[in-house]
Amino acid sequence: MANILVYALQYEGAFNKNSLGAVSEAAKLAAEIGGEAHAIVVGQGVSDDLAGTLGNYGATKVLNVEGPEGLAQPVVDAMAAAVAAGDYGYAIFGGGLLGFEVGAGLAARLDAGVAMEITAVRVEGGKLVAERPILGDSAISQISFRSDVGIIISRLNAFEIKETGGTAAVESLSVEFSPFSGQATMITRGEQRGADVDIEGADVLIAGGRGLGAEEGFELCEALATAFGGNSAVAATRAVVDAGWFPYAGQIGQTGKTVAPKLYLAAGISGAIQHKVGMQGAENIVAINKDANAPIFEFSDLGIVGDLNKIMPKLTEAVKAKKGA
Ligand SMILES: Cc1cc2nc3c(=O)[nH]c(=O)nc-3n(C[C@H](O)[C@H](O)[C@H](O)COP(=O)(O)OP(=O)(O)OC[C@H]3O[C@@H](n4cnc5c(N)ncnc54)[C@H](O)[C@@H]3O)c2cc1C
Repeated sequence: MANILVYALQYEGAFNKNSLGAVSEAAKLAAEIGGEAHAIVVGQGVSDDLAGTLGNYGATKVLNVEGPEGLAQPVVDAMAAAVAAGDYGYAIFGGGLLGFEVGAGLAARLDAGVAMEITAVRVEGGKLVAERPILGDSAISQISFRSDVGIIISRLNAFEIKETGGTAAVESLSVEFSPFSGQATMITRGEQRGADVDIEGADVLIAGGRGLGAEEGFELCEALATAFGGNSAVAATRAVVDAGWFPYAGQIGQTGKTVAPKLYLAAGISGAIQHKVGMQGAENIVAINKDANAPIFEFSDLGIVGDLNKIMPKLTEAVKAKKGA
């Protein structure tokens, strides 16, 4: 029971980044416990060629299931069928709303233990131990499993994507879906406003908070991100997303996204723990805040105390000058 099953979500011919991270992590862990990482894909007309690309992230086998895409219950059916037919000790999900829904559903179906919001997994005595930050991330709980199958659902982007150059055998798995799984159908798949904001992949993130004063304050962040150019993007705190100043797709933090840019610059952000958990992995943290006692300075590499309305335009000009623009 040393194999690990991973759900890989695909949309329009591309696999979701979280899924690729989960496949990579499962491959690493499976190797340590003497098993293999297998991926499962559920969709309509997913080609074996596309499914087989998961081999490049460490999957040795991909189960290709013909079925409704993007809905949780059919995936639960498919994964339960795979577990019944295979030799799986664990199922790993890369977070995200669908991952949470499928993982929880699978746990209920298999009467399995489930660990959610996981940030790391390690091997102890040939078994997986999942680590979950608790109490506002001030402590880490260690979770091991008594059930035959352990279900691990990570935080968004907790697992690093690693290309191995490997190949996977693709097998079709025929699944008899439960009657209730067909009760919901996907009518349309829409993108929320700002879904094009790719803060997870950005090298430079200019994050704005309530200190920007108004929605228009984000123009200062946009100008600085544009001055940096390249792979730069603007992000936000929950306070300003809740205020409607910025789309949710750009929210960093506990109830938003986890980011790891080379440079993260906070403009008018206090540094609440729920924000910190989403950006503490940044290589360099710079903060501008008028309050010298703002918590964000406690974990910044460089802190600038002052009014962002005066500092941001000057910084933008300085970056432009440095870039010769
Ligand atoms: C369950 C839960 C989940 C949450 N999830 C998230 C999450 O995912 N992400 C998240 O970000 N938050 C989250 N929060 C909210 C979090 O607790 C904070 O309320 C929020 O991060 C604060 O946002 P802020 O820093 O923009 O605003 P504030 O805390 O109001 O800070 C504004 C800062 O701007 C500074 N400032 C004001 N004017 C200027 C100026 N002119 N120049 C320079 N500085 C200035 C102030 O000194 C202050 O430090 C969550 C809260 C809960 C309870």
